[in-house]
Amino acid sequence: MRPRIRLTTYCNRACAYCSAYDFLSKDNIQEFNLEEYHFFLECAKKEGISQIAWQGGEPTCHSQINRIAKITSDYGINIHLFTNGIFDTSLIKPFKRIVSRCLVNLNHPDTYTASQLSLVRKNLKRMSSSGIGFHIGYNLFQKNPDYGFILKAIEEYKIANVRFDIARPSKYGSNRHFSFDDFFGLKEQVLKFIALCRFLGARAYLDCCWPRCVFNDEEINFLKKAKAELSFRCATTVDVLPGLRIDSCYCSVEVKDKFLGESFGFKDALNFLKKEEDRLRWEVATDLKCVSCRWRKNKVCQGGCLGHAKLKNTKRSL
Ligand code: SF4
Ligand code: SF4
Ligand code: SF4
Repeated sequence: MRPRIRLTTYCNRACAYCSAYDFLSKDNIQEFNLEEYHFFLECAKKEGISQIAWQGGEPTCHSQINRIAKITSDYGINIHLFTNGIFDTSLIKPFKRIVSRCLVNLNHPDTYTASQLSLVRKNLKRMSSSGIGFHIGYNLFQKNPDYGFILKAIEEYKIANVRFDIARPSKYGSNRHFSFDDFFGLKEQVLKFIALCRFLGARAYLDCCWPRCVFNDEEINFLKKAKAELSFRCATTVDVLPGLRIDSCYCSVEVKDKFLGESFGFKDALNFLKKEEDRLRWEVATDLKCVSCRWRKNKVCQGGCLGHAKLKNTKRSL
């Protein structure tokens, strides 16, 4: 298990498609305090967990990120870092000791200020030269996107892995996202993007759920060969928020009253969240065609992102 910690509710960007959209705050910023962070790591150690993921908001914006990195290193815990790359370059040194995997989410260059863009470029170059391996991430949220900057980045930074995803609904669906039906029309874009990345020598992967029926068998074979990590059921993850509140993925069920504590550890949280999510996975049909679908009956496909099932469920119960 690799629990994810949302170090802060602040982000120095405001991407319209952000799945953390309903969690972020510029006025009422909440962040893990050091005592909570120590407790989190103690619980991890007790349960034999050696890897955790830092998320936010933008985790590097935590007001005491240097202390957080030092504590992490003292505990011997490895970090999977999710970042937008806009952070003080001096952080690369402490990160090198603890970050075992890093995903840098990139947006179109026109959406950055000149100073942000030059900082992202500088950090990518510095990470490459200092041996911090990283993947880049691209989120598609427009029907006719211009992703030439991703292809350029693959060449410029010799990127081997690109995470590619489609905008999914945030907790309350207030971000810019695609609907369940949109996924069917986006297939061509996805296949083309993966083929272009391959041509440049990079693997593009889709590590988040798609509806199985979007792709025919020939396309599935192509995606397998491309090592695209296509999935039709998502794995439950444990997210821990400031105040040690437990939640699941940004797009999935919302939990308000569970907290990490002496008598409720990560494994308890995972079991609890899995039960909640399984209810959404197998008892709520995202679309009418899912009701009698063999892929769903055989638990091969959960009906796309749980975010879509959740929104449907919310509308039904209103
Ligand atoms: S997608 Fe990432 S960088 Fe963009 S607003 Fe959300 S947390 Fe910030
Ligand atoms: S469960 Fe729904 S989304 Fe999945 S394959 Fe069947 S019809 Fe398609
Ligand atoms: S609910 Fe599942 S499919 Fe949707 S974004 Fe979260 S992990 Fe991915």
